[in-house]
Amino acid sequence: MSVKDSKSCTAYRGHIISPLDYETYIEYVDGVILVGNDGKIEAVGPWQEFQSQSASFQRVLDYGKRLILPGFIDLHVHLVQIAQTGRSGDTLLGWLNKYIFPAEAKFASADHAVKLADWFFRELSKNGTTLASVFTSIHHEATDIAFQSAAQSGCRVIMGKVLMDRNAPPELTEDTARSLELSEELCRKWHGYDNGRLSYAFTPRFAPTSTSAQMQQLSALWQKYPGSFMQTHLSENTDEISWVHELFPDCKSYLDVYDRHGLVGPNSLFAHSIHLSDQDLRRLGEAGAATIHCPSSNFFLKSGAFPYKRAREAGVHIGLGSDIAAGPEISLFKVMKDASYIQSDLWLNPRELLYLSTLGGAKAVNMDKQIGSLEVGKEADFIVIDPTLKSAVPFDILDQPVDDILSGLIYVGDDRMIVATYVRGQPIYQVEEVHERQRIKL
Ligand SMILES: [Zn+2]
Repeated sequence: MSVKDSKSCTAYRGHIISPLDYETYIEYVDGVILVGNDGKIEAVGPWQEFQSQSASFQRVLDYGKRLILPGFIDLHVHLVQIAQTGRSGDTLLGWLNKYIFPAEAKFASADHAVKLADWFFRELSKNGTTLASVFTSIHHEATDIAFQSAAQSGCRVIMGKVLMDRNAPPELTEDTARSLELSEELCRKWHGYDNGRLSYAFTPRFAPTSTSAQMQQLSALWQKYPGSFMQTHLSENTDEISWVHELFPDCKSYLDVYDRHGLVGPNSLFAHSIHLSDQDLRRLGEAGAATIHCPSSNFFLKSGAFPYKRAREAGVHIGLGSDIAAGPEISLFKVMKDASYIQSDLWLNPRELLYLSTLGGAKAVNMDKQIGSLEVGKEADFIVIDPTLKSAVPFDILDQPVDDILSGLIYVGDDRMIVATYVRGQPIYQVEEVHERQRIKL
């Protein structure tokens, strides 16, 4: 096999595993990905087939027996809550009032916003997350700072400022018209930045903190900017659901509130989506909307279990989210593990869990033609994993069949296994110097 312009390619050699759908995958035990200067994958295959051309490659980075997988996709995470991780003791509404609203109010300070944004994006890349869909606070300046930090970090990011124009503390409640103006300003500035590496998401926190007028006008804004997103929370907690029914007595369900305000469609992301009827799930499936499953958070706040089997049957897109800080785990390894544990009567196989955290996530945000798997023509977002850096991993894990390798990663893995994180072929995190043209002994 040969590539047209081998001189402009960097070769990444290692043990390659990539999902193709829920069940199938590609694996090259001694494989290579060739990445062009444009950050796109030119070829993937066994090293043997490319070895004869290797002298002509721009560079060869040899990761030895280490694993090369697509980067993780975390579709629900709150930048502004990262310093509140692990604060337990209450369910959703009490937890918001006690810990989260005071923490978000601190983002009125630009200094605070810079410090936490830089920390947040470092944590993502250190954990192998190459795309995240992020909530900030209501603050325009802090959100602008978060975008600057995202731009510098090299991460791929979908993000937006939160909108709340009622039922929130006064310092976090905005004037409706102003909240929409500021959202649009940020969207115009950042949506599509760096050839689409950053995207804007219109981000009403959830139905209880938005008026009808805010949601209605937000729908028009969302439609105005092609490729932009709408992200919010849906049916997480039973008290929250009762509150929504009191606030919107004419709506048939929580989902119906968003639907009546024009917020359900492709590129709408609904975090949690736990307590939903079959009719709601059907509607989400037909609309091409995405549910974002956040199992670690659901355990932490005792919210319930996502109806995984019914959602799959209804053809709903499913992505995974860490939901920092209601979820105490920013590592997608841990989120995948919790996605398995939270289903009391269902086994999710390791290939399926890997799919959810990579290509399935990309599909949920309609980026699966671009990222999510290691296939020719896609952008080279990938991670390098050395499972032996973590304790209690079977010593022969790398010689096992794919399901056993993935199972070891999912049930035992964490950030200590991540050796390098790449977006568009550019390293955004590396634990050590890469040894060029030198096999790393494991
Ligand atoms: Zn959330």
